[in-house]
Amino acid sequence: MLLEVRELYVEFATRDGIARAVNGVSYGVDEGETLAVLGESGSGKSVTAQAVMGILDTPPGRITGGEILFRGRDLLRLKEEERRGIRGAGMAMIFQDALSALNPVVPVGDQLGEMFVVHRGMSRKDARARAVELMDRVRIPAAAQRVRDYPHQFSGGMRQRIMIAMAMALEPALIIADEPTTALDVTVQAQVMDLLAELRRAYRMGLILITHDLGVVADVADRIAVMYAGRIVESAPVHDIYKAPAHPYTRGLLDSVPRLDRKGRELYAIKGLPPNLTHIPPGCPFHPRCPMARDVCRTDVPPLYEVGADRGSACHFWRECLHGPDH
Ligand code: SF4
Ligand code: MG
Repeated sequence: MLLEVRELYVEFATRDGIARAVNGVSYGVDEGETLAVLGESGSGKSVTAQAVMGILDTPPGRITGGEILFRGRDLLRLKEEERRGIRGAGMAMIFQDALSALNPVVPVGDQLGEMFVVHRGMSRKDARARAVELMDRVRIPAAAQRVRDYPHQFSGGMRQRIMIAMAMALEPALIIADEPTTALDVTVQAQVMDLLAELRRAYRMGLILITHDLGVVADVADRIAVMYAGRIVESAPVHDIYKAPAHPYTRGLLDSVPRLDRKGRELYAIKGLPPNLTHIPPGCPFHPRCPMARDVCRTDVPPLYEVGADRGSACHFWRECLHGPDH
């Protein structure tokens, strides 16, 4: 396994009390594999990724348990120096908002080149040449002319390509992309996703794709981990989930994706809101919103049941969800 998160717990100190953002999350991604982490905002998917990247080590966030194994080494036990070495060369992150992630007053070519100067000890001139190559690689037209342009001179889609180029610069083994296309127009979204998928294949990188949008994962992901209230509620190969979800929350997400074959029909929306993480409901955290909830759901926390080959669901009634009401 390239990356393995084991039983991770993260909490935040807030004015209303302790927010339990991540509650025992385990997931893994292999070399060359794409894991989509799916869930509404506040489900803990970004916080888990930030813990993996080591950008959560300062208050108010606190990792209170678990392991994060990168090629078998627990990152939580490394010195900050070793950790920094892995960040950049071993793993890199792409954020939703490229404009705030890029430095507005430094030409993009210099920001890209900086990676090679700092990590590879290249001269400025060589680094700039590599920057142009990278911009070419992520298909920014006329890269050689645009290498001196500033972030605001690029469109949203082009800026996101520059972010991808930055993440890819040192050819990391793992890329974590947090809602990389959410801020973009639909057509541009598809292009950026295609690019990411293509580069992942070309470089055999592991990819963790964090998204709230099931619509974008079907074509790119190998596996899906669905998160709710800081837990994984379903984890499965992507095709299994599309065929039949084994958790009512996943079903709700699937039913709320627009589909051509259901044109004209009203879209389903999961009722209610995700829970306040300072007051997660007892039992199954999804019970206040679940159309299948029964008494036991209000008291007993469902474990992640093994429901098939390489597949888990944290629902007491996963059989019913998967096979219908008679099971
Ligand atoms: Fe719904 Fe109960 Fe399953 Fe939770 S355990 S998802 S409340 S049926
Ligand atoms: Mg987020």
